[in-house]
Amino acid sequence: MSNVWQELQREAEELAIEMRTLPVVRPVSAVALRGDIESRFNFAAPIALDEITRAVADLFRSSHVQVTHPRYFGLFNPSVRNAGIAGDTLAALYNPQLAAWSHAPAANELERLTLRHFTKALGLPLDTTSANFTSGGQEANTSAVLVALADRFPDLARSGLSVAGDLVIYLTSESHHSFVKIAKMSGLGTRALCHVPVTADFAADVAALRDQIETDLRSGRRPFMIVGTAGTTGGGTIDPLSALADLAAEFKIWFHVDAAWGGAAALVPRLRPALNGIERASSVTWDAHKWLSVPMGAGMFFCRAPEAVRRAFDVSATSYMPESAGAETIDPYSMTMQWTRRATGLKVFMTLAELGAAGLAEMIDGQARMGDRLRIHLREAGWIIVNESPLPLVCFTHPDIRAGRLTTTDILREVYARGRVWISDAVLGGKERVLRACITSFRTEERDVVALVEEIESVRQRPKVVAV
Ligand SMILES: *Cc1c(COP(=O)(O)O)cnc(C)c1O
Repeated sequence: MSNVWQELQREAEELAIEMRTLPVVRPVSAVALRGDIESRFNFAAPIALDEITRAVADLFRSSHVQVTHPRYFGLFNPSVRNAGIAGDTLAALYNPQLAAWSHAPAANELERLTLRHFTKALGLPLDTTSANFTSGGQEANTSAVLVALADRFPDLARSGLSVAGDLVIYLTSESHHSFVKIAKMSGLGTRALCHVPVTADFAADVAALRDQIETDLRSGRRPFMIVGTAGTTGGGTIDPLSALADLAAEFKIWFHVDAAWGGAAALVPRLRPALNGIERASSVTWDAHKWLSVPMGAGMFFCRAPEAVRRAFDVSATSYMPESAGAETIDPYSMTMQWTRRATGLKVFMTLAELGAAGLAEMIDGQARMGDRLRIHLREAGWIIVNESPLPLVCFTHPDIRAGRLTTTDILREVYARGRVWISDAVLGGKERVLRACITSFRTEERDVVALVEEIESVRQRPKVVAV
């Protein structure tokens, strides 16, 4: 009989060694899985915690897409370091409540210190930037829209959207679809979203955006926000941030940069110039749970208009909330969307502290270089790279696909059945469907990248069975 801590320790140690040997994906039947789970757990009698722990780990091993696998080339879901796991464990253990500073002074201060490090990396002014951890990019992007509204319409908090008029948010077809959710949830409506054209490299077309703003102004609409993406989800494209910042300044429009994944490039001296202009943003979204390799549930929101942040989120709750601990502290519930706050930033702090600033940058740069290796191996094998990005997200196709001899769906079906690597497909700029591979793990090595190319090559060269 072991106890739950021994069981967890064994699981953590074994998984670190065995992950590489597991299939990255396995076929799962919803009906069979549900039946299996229902037969194991009916809540009729208590079960020992170490036994439940073992059962859950078994289920996770046999049914999940293993996003921490070195050959998971997927959707910005990282491998996690022990520092992040330890941080999440400590947060669970002490369960600090960060809503009010006075309830969790140390946890709040560790988050503040961590956020200041990233504020500096972005080039935002340290003394006038408000920053907080969020649940993820969706919450950070939602915060941006709500704060921009509060900034532009000081009376909005009282009178609601009736004061706002016909607002327009400019983005592109490649922007994250969280903005569609935001338009629906905020009451702005999806008609507020204006998707401007992209250039041949899938980046925002600045000239077309200028024309669109002028057209909208002439017809009485109210240009309200420009969203630039630093590392699009589909193709890793970085919009021309400086040119977008110029346009936003000229027309006095809020400039938000969604750097949910690509923000990490700000930490790497070699890659930082690719993000030039981000330091001029009114607000920035940056997910720690993407490229900073911490467990999920950690985004960040940065904003250079703290007064608007307060206007958007502050409420008077003096009847039961603890009194403020003084002018040099901030109660997060008054500056963020959430009320009860988990110590989300602790895992980020511990990762940064363990690696140090240079070590964290090195980890990110290593993944970027692995992306460069992938491009080289793909080209050598005759594949065509269709996206441009200094970041490790590679979109590619093959003359056989362009000639209609096989589709990306054919390839993915076969690759998933084999379970050796995981990649996805994407449509960039509304054009062709291409394969998409992103380096998401600090454990990915050159041999993993080679395995990816081997897999898709063997699927491509396999004689095709033609149905008759
Ligand atoms: C992932 C992503 C988001 C959404 O972030 P979540 O953490 O999933 O809520 C927003 N924008 C971009 C560019 C993303 O890649």
